[in-house]
Amino acid sequence: FALPQIQNEPMRPYPVGSADRENLKAAIKDLRSELPFEVPAVINGHELRSTSSSSLSHQLIPFEHATVLAKSHEVDAKVVVERAIPGALEAKRAWETMSFTDRASIFLKAADLVANKYRYKILAATMLGQGKNVWQAEIDAAAELADFFRFNVWYAQHQIYSQQPLSNQADGYWNRVEYRPLEGFVAAVSPFNFTAIGGNLAGAPVLMGNVVLWKPSPHAAYSNHLVLQILREAGLPDGVIQFVPGPAEAVVGAMVDHPDFAGLHFTGSSAVFKGLYKRIAGNIDGYKNFPRIVGETGGKNMHFIHRSAHVPTVVNQTIRGTFEYSGQKCSATSRMYCPDSLWDEVKEGLVEGVKKIKVGPVDDFSTFVSAVIHKASFEKCKSYIEYAKAAPDAEILVGGVCDDSKGYYVHPTVIVTTNPSFKSITEEIFGPILTIYVYPADKYEETLLLADRTSSYALTAALFARDREAQIVGAETLRNCAGNFYINDKSTGDIVGQQPFGGSRASGTNDKAGAAINLLRWVSPRAVKENF
Ligand code: GLU
Repeated sequence: FALPQIQNEPMRPYPVGSADRENLKAAIKDLRSELPFEVPAVINGHELRSTSSSSLSHQLIPFEHATVLAKSHEVDAKVVVERAIPGALEAKRAWETMSFTDRASIFLKAADLVANKYRYKILAATMLGQGKNVWQAEIDAAAELADFFRFNVWYAQHQIYSQQPLSNQADGYWNRVEYRPLEGFVAAVSPFNFTAIGGNLAGAPVLMGNVVLWKPSPHAAYSNHLVLQILREAGLPDGVIQFVPGPAEAVVGAMVDHPDFAGLHFTGSSAVFKGLYKRIAGNIDGYKNFPRIVGETGGKNMHFIHRSAHVPTVVNQTIRGTFEYSGQKCSATSRMYCPDSLWDEVKEGLVEGVKKIKVGPVDDFSTFVSAVIHKASFEKCKSYIEYAKAAPDAEILVGGVCDDSKGYYVHPTVIVTTNPSFKSITEEIFGPILTIYVYPADKYEETLLLADRTSSYALTAALFARDREAQIVGAETLRNCAGNFYINDKSTGDIVGQQPFGGSRASGTNDKAGAAINLLRWVSPRAVKENF
């Protein structure tokens, strides 16, 4: 069958006075008037609410932490084992035999609902709940979410289901491959920082015929529950996604300890992913199948500048890569290597640019940087800033202000160090902090090697150079440093259907979100030879 034309959901600009802007403002107002929301667990299509307040987790508005956006009803391991898993396995029988056209149409319809009917609502939910400004919410909860749903359908159809053995060798046989879903269920564990990632972590295995237990981050529970509601409105049958907010250790632990656990689709920290990987390894004798383990984790992403770089591009892209969404993207720029020949100009541009950044609440549409997600993140950022303030080998060029009186505000901060192993140039912070090391311009290759050795992560990296030879050397030397490599562009902002996303080393299994590679992890092919 032919799919409708699949293309990227156009990103809207929300200009002053436009209907889009007014509608979004109205959606934010509506949301605020209904606070706090209750987010239930959803099992077999039924909303499950806990009876005690101790199992309610609170999602606060990060830039206004006295306000509770939502209270999630958390489940425990018993609910996972006794209700969610058996229900999912039951739902799987009908789901996996449904034709791909029917499954695909649910996702295509869900994408339409995201892009049209629910656009303002899901944007408002992402803005208030996760502290994204309007542009960051738009690229995530509108564009990327719709893109994941649509492009996954395209990849599944064109790059998986239609792929068959090239030759049948001889008359009298028919060789074919069936792309079965995995036997068992998939656990999706999603982060706070992208509403779209939650949709993809749960959605990708489901599109391929699997059933999923989805544990959202408590700091994105409200928008993630909306995603589930949209999928259900689009026709997703009961039980195919079991939405199970709850304490990670107990809830995800119960999933991976179960004999029918078939796969993990994870985005979050490297430490948590490693812990789960080990736990799964420890359980290996108890599973029916070797589980598929797909994880996208942390990053310590660099902008590497060659002396031939165009300085205004470097400055602009670095400010965007580092500070958009307060650096809370796995791909965020967090370290820079700058040649001494360009340093004065780069420094001046960065300091000037960062001073102009508007910090504040996101319902003011001119805000560029808002608060970080929660108290723990605020404290972490603050500790790196304090460390840099006291360090003899570092200096804070701009920023360094932290204020959590109303929201968890960490102001955009730039640190310069003379120590290439300085704490904030090697460790992931996940906040609006950039650390720069200035190197002698004639030591390009040595410094590339140094940068490669400096971090255990390999998610994204960007090289700024106009000289072709420098681009070749840089790209080659940093070959294993990033799963997403940019030349003269910032380290963030991959687009589904354009740059499949994911990294290696401590950054994950590099199974590329938004690509056939990822979807292939959720099928267990059967080769059938039929003798005529
Ligand atoms: N794909 C996102 C970007 O580069 C980052 C994903 C993540 O934070 O996990 O903008």
